[in-house]
Amino acid sequence: MRLILLGPPGSGKGTQGDLIESKFGFPKISAGDLLRSAVKQGTPSGLKVKRSIDRGVLVDDSIILEMIKKRIEGDDCRNGYTLDGFPRNVSQAELLEKADPELEETVIDIRIDDKTVVKRLSSRYICSECNNIYNIREADPADEKKCGRCGGKLVQREDDRPEVIKKRLAVYHNETEKLVRYYKKKGIYKAVNGEGRINEVFQRICSLINEIYRQGQECEA
Ligand code: AMP
Repeated sequence: MRLILLGPPGSGKGTQGDLIESKFGFPKISAGDLLRSAVKQGTPSGLKVKRSIDRGVLVDDSIILEMIKKRIEGDDCRNGYTLDGFPRNVSQAELLEKADPELEETVIDIRIDDKTVVKRLSSRYICSECNNIYNIREADPADEKKCGRCGGKLVQREDDRPEVIKKRLAVYHNETEKLVRYYKKKGIYKAVNGEGRINEVFQRICSLINEIYRQGQECEA
């Protein structure tokens, strides 16, 4: 199964993708992480990518598509994978279907409102080494904190600054949200309430995944 996690920035796609990977075994593929690692390598295309990320706009479809295609060719993706942050527009969705037509697709849209997006992203820190995500309250100085998983330094993402958050939200509403209609028409769209604690949202997602599996088994029987 190819599980596509939809939702605005800060809706928890990355965190939930990791939990899904631990429980169901589908590797999580994060478009943002792939792009940020290209930026770290400092190649000419990495520089171009950095400019787009820092402005909060989408990078060219062809650049991200190539990275996704290469990643899903991995042996670990043969039986399925979870996509976090890809596709982000209808043209990417169509290209993905052409690139990997074999797998059945399911979409889970993690819904939160814009106020929650701003609140969550302004207190989000990531590990500069392993990309693990942390939420840090003002009272808890982040520069003294290290990643609980690998000991790396916690940093705030450049694109989690208020003016870039605004732009990313606009891109989400103008481009990515069109995918809701697109996937509803295909009959593979499900939504969960993304407000609340990580574990509460995860339980909602697990119920949906179990329901999808049950339906699949009923079809086979
Ligand atoms: P994320 O880590 O998912 O919040 O993504 C961070 C940034 O990476 C986005 O604001 C975009 O600039 C870029 N990006 C991530 N995924 C895509 C995608 N599928 N298509 C184009 N740009 C993307």
